[in-house]
Amino acid sequence: MNQGLRKKITAIGTYLLVSTVGWNAGKLVTGIDEYFFSTSNERSLESIIKKPINFDTFDSKEERDSKINLFEENYRDAKHNWDNFDKQFNLVKKISYMDQYNPSLKSRLISLISGYNFNGSANVIEGELNTTPNSETIIHELSHFWHTHIDNEKFNEAWKEISENHYLGFGFSKATRQDFERNGAVSDYALRNLNEDIAEICEFVYRILHPNKHIIGFTHKKPDFRVKIHRWESWESLNIPLDNENHLSKIKEKIKLLKNYNFISEREYKHTLDELDSFKERKCH
Ligand SMILES: [Zn+2]
Repeated sequence: MNQGLRKKITAIGTYLLVSTVGWNAGKLVTGIDEYFFSTSNERSLESIIKKPINFDTFDSKEERDSKINLFEENYRDAKHNWDNFDKQFNLVKKISYMDQYNPSLKSRLISLISGYNFNGSANVIEGELNTTPNSETIIHELSHFWHTHIDNEKFNEAWKEISENHYLGFGFSKATRQDFERNGAVSDYALRNLNEDIAEICEFVYRILHPNKHIIGFTHKKPDFRVKIHRWESWESLNIPLDNENHLSKIKEKIKLLKNYNFISEREYKHTLDELDSFKERKCH
């Protein structure tokens, strides 16, 4: 066996070993978590949403309970402000919840061992939704689930036609204005790949529709089919220019596809388009 081949085999073997150990350690950690550390508040929330929830193992009972409250609040917020929430959430088998704003050293360690990250992720094959304390991330990850659930070959083809299949992989953070306009992207992360593009547009629609979240530049008229359940308001900017007609029409076409494939409902679609049109009008004056 030549030297190069031997090196390659060793590298592959090491990779497999490390990932298997990591994966099993992750399973073990979540098993221990459920068995020894779940609190009564956690179990009562689990019985409401009918899915197991994993938190940072080794958190104190107080830390756990405050995270459970935070999760419950965001879960209810997402559910309340997204018409197709229930059928999309149905696809999820379990939830991991991490505190991205205040990760302790031990939770960083756990995340390293078990392969969690702090930005939310959807392991759609295993049905694991890993989320952080905000409802946008829940919607973002749910749309990954829904995307794998629908007949996505036709959907993907139509999407690629709009986006010109223009994606930058890990170079997304260096995206230029031309990249945004060519793809019809609403964030730089959307330019990473097709899957993220879809999830980012869903998140964008969610924020436009949300009665408490506002994106600067839109009229943010409260949808007449939504009731405000919180008193807080949040203001964010889109961080991308949206004054190019072609860019705007690509975003609208993507949102229409979302409606056709039940990511969003008919009324959510109509309200989002109204907001996009009002954005354009404001720009013209
Ligand atoms: Zn994503």
